[in-house]
Amino acid sequence: MQNSEKILVINSGSSSLKLTLYSIGSKQRLATGFVERIGTDAANMIYSRNGETKIEKTVEAKNHAIALDLVTQYLIDPEIGVIKSLDEINAIGHRVLHGGEIFKTATLIDTDVITQLRYLVPLGPLHMPANIGGVEACKKIFPDAQNVAVFDTAFHQSMPAYASRYAIPNEYYEKYGIRKFGFHGTSHHFVTLAASEFMGRAPEELKLVTCHLGNGSSLAAVKYGKVYDTTMGLTPLDGVVMGTRSGNIDPAVVLTLVRQGMTADEIDNMLNKQSGLFGVGGIDSGDMRDIVSNAAAGVATAKLALDMWAHRIVFYIGGYSSLIGGADAIVFTGGIGENSWQAREKVLSRLESIGCIMDEKANSTRRGPCYVSTPDSPVAVIIMPTDEELMIAKQTSEVVSAYRASIRKEEAERDFVI
Ligand code: AMP
Repeated sequence: MQNSEKILVINSGSSSLKLTLYSIGSKQRLATGFVERIGTDAANMIYSRNGETKIEKTVEAKNHAIALDLVTQYLIDPEIGVIKSLDEINAIGHRVLHGGEIFKTATLIDTDVITQLRYLVPLGPLHMPANIGGVEACKKIFPDAQNVAVFDTAFHQSMPAYASRYAIPNEYYEKYGIRKFGFHGTSHHFVTLAASEFMGRAPEELKLVTCHLGNGSSLAAVKYGKVYDTTMGLTPLDGVVMGTRSGNIDPAVVLTLVRQGMTADEIDNMLNKQSGLFGVGGIDSGDMRDIVSNAAAGVATAKLALDMWAHRIVFYIGGYSSLIGGADAIVFTGGIGENSWQAREKVLSRLESIGCIMDEKANSTRRGPCYVSTPDSPVAVIIMPTDEELMIAKQTSEVVSAYRASIRKEEAERDFVI
């Protein structure tokens, strides 16, 4: 793929659409568009060029195709656009939630792939239809562009079965595909590569624990560039305490609540939207900034939520470090991991036993990419800002380049035979 080529990255949620246009050679984010509340008469649209907001308004976007069409018109606008024609975009990378066991890497989308994505809808009933809808909208607006699916689950497909399977009868795996998949794979992959580069070493020679801590959070044990275990499971509900999700609980809690008369949807809502920092913090917010300030002000429930959050993360970092035979580095990323020094300090102050010596000043003042461990710390601690969209753009570029090379090879072989 030519270095000057433009790649569009699409993140299509159930009622939102985020679009980022990259110039792949310079890794430059040329423009972004975001539409939320799609399906209503009053959707919100924001269009920014080079990081500066140019348009912010209410629009009528009844579906994702209309939302995409609206934003793409700004990309070619003579005054605030960044390209002359939509033909300049010849590859589109789609963030896709679930690749199941079918997709282990980013994949060029053809009709067979769309059929397989539909087959995976039960694994992500909210996100997958929106992801497929985004692909279909792009096929209409960019009929000549190549579409590539980049899966949130793909980086975790290297987990051994003893890490990814649940100890329930095999038939549930065989019949329903129930197992751990893990999510945030694109982010864990990005920070694995970026932290390795930062340390001046190859990912194949490093053992890392990557901590994506945001509103949704997950950790991954990454051994020699491949995921060995991760905290999210069949769905993104499992693992650490999150903004509004419980993380792992005794499965019998669900059974107890069913027997108390709660429905599956009610329990789903409670565990995904009413729990975590929000559910425990008692301050009507799952935002870490509010939890930290209220805990510091002495609100007991906020302090409890923060302590639970850190407790679970320390537990996983220690466990994952053991599982991979001792980590070379712990990597923090995501909204909390990158920005909340107080939350990081809560975790790092308890990791000396596994060889992480925090540099308190660095932790409370520096911004990533940087070390927040002392120079003589046996295990390095790194803040590495994630960039999932850039990772999607790069992978899209690689898949499309490989496809074009294979077409050229086929053509050359055909010409030779003739
Ligand atoms: P994300 O889902 O990755 O966007 O992360 C959202 C979380 O990051 C929220 O809990 C925010 O409180 C937290 N966060 C974002 N920015 C900051 C900041 N500057 N300081 C502390 N926490 C932050």
